[in-house]
Amino acid sequence: MNIATLRRATLASLAVLTLTVTVTTPARAAAVPSADRLAAGVTTGALLDHLRALQSVADRSGGDRGYDGVGFTRSVDYVEGRLRAAGYRVTRQTVPYTDFAVSTETLTAGGAPVPVLMTRFTPSTPAQGLTAPVAALPAGSTGCAAGDYLGVTGRIVVLPRAACGYTAQQQAAAAAGAAAVLIYYPTPKPDNNYRFLAYTPDDFTIPMASVSQRDGENLIKRSTAGLRVHLTLRGAGTPRTTTNLFAETSGGDPDNVVMAGGHLDAVTEGPGINDNGSTSAATLQTALALAPYQAQVTNKVRFAWWGAEELVDVGSAYYVTHLSDAERARIALLLNGELLGSPNSGRFVWDQGSGGSHVIADLFAGYLDRQKLRYQRTSPDSVGSDHLEFLPVGIPVGGIDGGNLGLKTPEQQALFGGRAGQMFDPCYHQPCDRVENLDTSALTTNARAMAWVLARLATSADDVRAVRTAPAS
Ligand SMILES: [Zn+2]
Repeated sequence: MNIATLRRATLASLAVLTLTVTVTTPARAAAVPSADRLAAGVTTGALLDHLRALQSVADRSGGDRGYDGVGFTRSVDYVEGRLRAAGYRVTRQTVPYTDFAVSTETLTAGGAPVPVLMTRFTPSTPAQGLTAPVAALPAGSTGCAAGDYLGVTGRIVVLPRAACGYTAQQQAAAAAGAAAVLIYYPTPKPDNNYRFLAYTPDDFTIPMASVSQRDGENLIKRSTAGLRVHLTLRGAGTPRTTTNLFAETSGGDPDNVVMAGGHLDAVTEGPGINDNGSTSAATLQTALALAPYQAQVTNKVRFAWWGAEELVDVGSAYYVTHLSDAERARIALLLNGELLGSPNSGRFVWDQGSGGSHVIADLFAGYLDRQKLRYQRTSPDSVGSDHLEFLPVGIPVGGIDGGNLGLKTPEQQALFGGRAGQMFDPCYHQPCDRVENLDTSALTTNARAMAWVLARLATSADDVRAVRTAPAS
């Protein structure tokens, strides 16, 4: 840890605090600064320092920080190193899980390779692959009804993901005798390719992979001319472990634990800087800003960086299910964030409309209103992420995100700026999810909003009590 970083972490306005207030000599009670001053310690410069470090990790690790690889473990090392240097007690939780390791994913059409991403936890093709004609759906059909798949027996169906969902589409194709499914997700960026996941593997009985919209539409066009393709998809479940990382304040009421975090892993297809390096960096910088006062906070703060969120909340689910009832009861709430610096940014505050979640959302709203920052309230369910593991066990959750795959409406363009008709994050789960594509203004304001709400809940027993006691509707 260098001096420049320390200065950024503690802010010019706090400079009166001597930098020799160290971790090893705790508790000569410097009063905890206001939530406003702690939030101001989350600067663009400090956030970008962390995100450039994570970008560098990806660049040195084959281009990604995928949950299953060295890019993730190096990310954990970086965050842990910064936390230890700031004086936190840091713990790692090892999480066993079943991964799906893809060994081969190739498609050739007319002798030319077409990039494919095997859907995780779907059946493999034979080792030598399968050669079959391509089948398209009748014009105007969605692939959501059995009747959309007449004559696909033995063929490889190419289709866009539709509203009924790719599980249902794939099941209908399989029931009609299709040999495999190639699916694409239509977006304004037709060259993007999104890897899918069989969330319920038993529902998937034939091989499946995704292609880009451009390639998918091209295959469909050529299907009328009897195009045959060669598809090889090979993968298998494999035991692995991932890591959850925690840092906890030395002080604060252990019966009122305020948790805040984000997932530190990324998909295997990119560096994952907005998703979710942004929240990892925001959480880290908030922790660093709070570090000099960690003995003085009112409520205990537990910062978390989750592993393998991208395989659907692997780390956070393990954490929640391995808490005792007593440990669960001590956790007052969880704050989570996602995609804080989306390039075509929005600002969404998660609100269940009642209960502790609503109290937290009102804290966000109050802060954002005072900062004259615009936002919309949205259900926590609208963002698939680690907080959804806490909700079912009755722990109130709150959070914020900058928008993901959804298309910005004209009304949202009027509210947030940017471009209507485009995705909030066109680089979501893509190789271009890099530090240079962030909206750094959105990143900083959203990170500060998280820091402010956390600081407020850490320093005021009343606010935590309000979160805990608010009746859910
Ligand atoms: Zn993601």
